[in-house]
Amino acid sequence: MLDTLTIRTQRTTASRLQQLDPERLEFGKTFSDHMFVVDYRDGEWQDAQIVPYGDMPVSPANSALHYGQSIFEGMKAYKNTDGDIALFRPYDNFRRFNASAERMCMPLIPEELFMQGLSQLIRVDNAWVPDAAGSALYIRPFMFATDGFLGVRPSESYRFVIITCPVGLYYNKPLRVRFEERYVRSAEGGAGYAKNAGNYGAAMYPTKLAQQEGYNQLIWTDASEHRYVEESGTMNAIFVVDGKVVTPALSTSILDGVTRRSVLDLARDWGMPVEERKVSAVELMEALAAGKLEEAFGVGTAATIAPIAVVGYQGQDYELPTPGTNSFSTRATTALHAIRTGQAPDTHNWMVAV
Ligand SMILES: *Cc1c(COP(=O)(O)O)cnc(C)c1O
Repeated sequence: MLDTLTIRTQRTTASRLQQLDPERLEFGKTFSDHMFVVDYRDGEWQDAQIVPYGDMPVSPANSALHYGQSIFEGMKAYKNTDGDIALFRPYDNFRRFNASAERMCMPLIPEELFMQGLSQLIRVDNAWVPDAAGSALYIRPFMFATDGFLGVRPSESYRFVIITCPVGLYYNKPLRVRFEERYVRSAEGGAGYAKNAGNYGAAMYPTKLAQQEGYNQLIWTDASEHRYVEESGTMNAIFVVDGKVVTPALSTSILDGVTRRSVLDLARDWGMPVEERKVSAVELMEALAAGKLEEAFGVGTAATIAPIAVVGYQGQDYELPTPGTNSFSTRATTALHAIRTGQAPDTHNWMVAV
């Protein structure tokens, strides 16, 4: 990527890199030395800069705090065996960020600003990108309203920020999930397809109830009938039924995941039939009873692929088969890891060098 954009960079005089313990990386707790910040004022983005990671003052009347104009993205950068750093499908995250911004009445980010901010920040903090197997730099771009005004209307000023944190191998403990038939994460026509902050706050209470019953997360179902699968926690849900890869079709209530899209691309590469359509709980439970539900898993940037081991349905727990080394989810996990670390050819041009 060319440095066509001038980003003022103020380097920290107190790097925390020495305190980093690559063996003990807890997701989302340790942040790299710097952050990218740009403000939207008077109808334009101005004063892009890279500054030391640190607190940001906000007005007590900050409209993001009161009315929730706040969106984010989640993506990763990987270091390959030669020490080169590359981003996984960053343009997909960029486009989705702007789709979220549009839904929340927030200004769009120009592609150059997003990509340059991202790549220059990662170059400044390149020593923070871990290289142990399964590790990566998790990247969190976000935008929030900054007007100090209690009137309910879109803010006129915003701040866009990118922070990053090194993350270790994500241990995918097989999940215990249950179908949610009372609460909803999102409804058609709502903002479930956007990564806006409020979606996550509203999902916490039903998730907490499920956790008190011993589950890790919920399988959200559709808002009108509670019949069809939407997502699994904050991941998309994919099933292998009778040799076919089956997943809920996208809608305004489902988030268009980059991992979902990548896993479906791999299935097509490997000649497996892929069906994006409505998937009902009843269909899955019948397939399970008939021995045809071969795999069920959640997909998302943080975990990549998280197999589901137990499903709760109408008060009863059902065990799913354990994925073997030749299962689709295991092969997809291995293939994605190999592409991301440069150990397999990147035939879809997913990787973008920093
Ligand atoms: C971010 C997210 C996903 C996964 O998207 P990826 O791009 O694969 O990380 C799925 N569902 C929800 C609700 C999400 O917020």
